[in-house]
Amino acid sequence: MAQPQTLRLILGDQLNTEHSWFRQQEDHVCYLMAEIRQETDYVKHHIQKVTGFFAAMRSFAKHLEKLGHRILYIPISENQSHSFDILITEQIQLQNIQKFEYQEPDEYRLDAQLQSLCERLAQNNIETQMQSSEHFLTQRNTLTLFFEGKKQALMESFYRMMRKKSGYLMIGGQPEGGKWNYDGENRSSFKDQVPIPAIPLLKNDIKAIVDEICAENIQYIGEIDINNFNWPINRTQGIELLKHFCEHLLPYFGKYQDALYSEDPFLFHSRLSFALNLKMISPKEVIEHSIEAYHNNRHDVSLSQIEGFVRQILGWREYMRGMYWREMPEYANLNALEHRNALPLFYWTGNTKMKCLEKAISQSLKHSYAHHIQRLMVTGNFALLTQIDPDQLDQWYLGIYIDAIEWVEMPNTRGMSQYADFGKIATKPYISSANYIDKMSNYCKSCHYNAKAKKGEDSCPFNSLYWNFLDHHRNKLSSNPRMGMMYRLLEKKNQEEMQEIRDRASKIIKNPDLF
Ligand SMILES: Cc1cc2nc3c(=O)[nH]c(=O)nc-3n(C[C@H](O)[C@H](O)[C@H](O)COP(=O)(O)OP(=O)(O)OC[C@H]3O[C@@H](n4cnc5c(N)ncnc54)[C@H](O)[C@@H]3O)c2cc1C
Ligand code: SF4
Repeated sequence: MAQPQTLRLILGDQLNTEHSWFRQQEDHVCYLMAEIRQETDYVKHHIQKVTGFFAAMRSFAKHLEKLGHRILYIPISENQSHSFDILITEQIQLQNIQKFEYQEPDEYRLDAQLQSLCERLAQNNIETQMQSSEHFLTQRNTLTLFFEGKKQALMESFYRMMRKKSGYLMIGGQPEGGKWNYDGENRSSFKDQVPIPAIPLLKNDIKAIVDEICAENIQYIGEIDINNFNWPINRTQGIELLKHFCEHLLPYFGKYQDALYSEDPFLFHSRLSFALNLKMISPKEVIEHSIEAYHNNRHDVSLSQIEGFVRQILGWREYMRGMYWREMPEYANLNALEHRNALPLFYWTGNTKMKCLEKAISQSLKHSYAHHIQRLMVTGNFALLTQIDPDQLDQWYLGIYIDAIEWVEMPNTRGMSQYADFGKIATKPYISSANYIDKMSNYCKSCHYNAKAKKGEDSCPFNSLYWNFLDHHRNKLSSNPRMGMMYRLLEKKNQEEMQEIRDRASKIIKNPDLF
């Protein structure tokens, strides 16, 4: 019996060459890939993000073509359809398609859109099928099932289950080295103790893509250096980056994971999130390759370094995805602390006297990247302390980072960083005064403000904001057992001190762009 003419959609973050779809070439299958306005315009993206997606998609399409697959690739300059619904419906008619297939999208909005499209197609007797993207280590509902009936969904419990299930860093059913977590050993600041290895130069030619983006008048943020686009755009480059990480960066990954350093935005971080999130490389191979480097001990990788890294991928990444699918769509509207302030303008320019924010934001605009602690304890911390509306912040994080896709951006932003879910993800708000930033960075030394000063015009804004936050949210947060110490210290402040804190914090909150 003849096979039905089949259209298979490949989304821009589904560039998995190892997917079972591509194991054999099939004449009845046409693969559809499209650069499309609905995706470039749902938020204002960084120019490197749009460029990186298009470059990786084009490279993927060429690869499939070489393998003999039939590809319909529609570049942005030729795409008249602004949404997938229109494009897919047109192609189904044009090509006399009988079956439509797609891989499970990772974003709720695309999932809902394709599901309702499929319902309409079914009414016209078009068969439809959603298949696994064959990328993650868990199913969408693994986390939901694991925590069923439990009061709290702690990442640590999920991570331990994942370690047991996968056998990674396990010996005889027990965690290697006897402990599950070596986080406590991984909190050093960076003071040039060891040289930071240079990042590999990937030399991707992206000029034509950038020209097309500009010609199409796609709105974007940030900068791009067309002679130096250093993000991986295919599997080979993703693997190259992974090998570089295992050889040069993994030995110090955990140790300096939380360090903030103005001279180098990447430190010992892997920069693998873009390749991972577009599925050019898989979490399984990233974990296994790095564990192999540890076991061979070729590069002096200690247990605390490898455990710290494996926890990010096996634990945090899968956990965030599970939480996203458990909590959506309500999660997108959560604002438990009722924060309603507008995002300061300097988030779009880096133009502020606060050195930590200036560095984190200008690096983000330049590289479309900031590492986790910059996102959490600098930009996220300031936004939380100044009571920024999580909707506005979500849009900012979703636009500015090359790795930002909603399933991972949103739980990190609303949950981990802004406590807008009132503790579904973080057991307490991630806030700090200048103390933490000063301890972990070299920013404060060259800052306009004094990290040690608690009051006065030159005092670090984070200091008064921190105590003001605790004071402001006393009713909501003081009964949190993990915040007991913070509230006991707050209680020790006298009336006069509290008034000074409130006055200065209120000035900053009202007009953060003056600071
Ligand atoms: C407010 C905020 C927003 C964030 N938005 C995103 C986002 O849009 N996309 C994204 O991929 N990550 C996001 N993260 C998580 C983390 O900051 C990035 O994954 C990491 O900085 C990417 O850089 P890297 O590849 O060098 O990571 P490394 O530090 O080298 O870590 C290795 C890998 O671990 C994974 N990982 C580490 N931490 C997390 C985490 N908290 N959640 C999920 N995966 C993690 C990533 O895949 C990362 O590539 C966000 C964090 C915060 C606090
Ligand atoms: S003094 Fe305050 S504002 Fe300045 S860099 Fe340090 S923490 Fe940031």
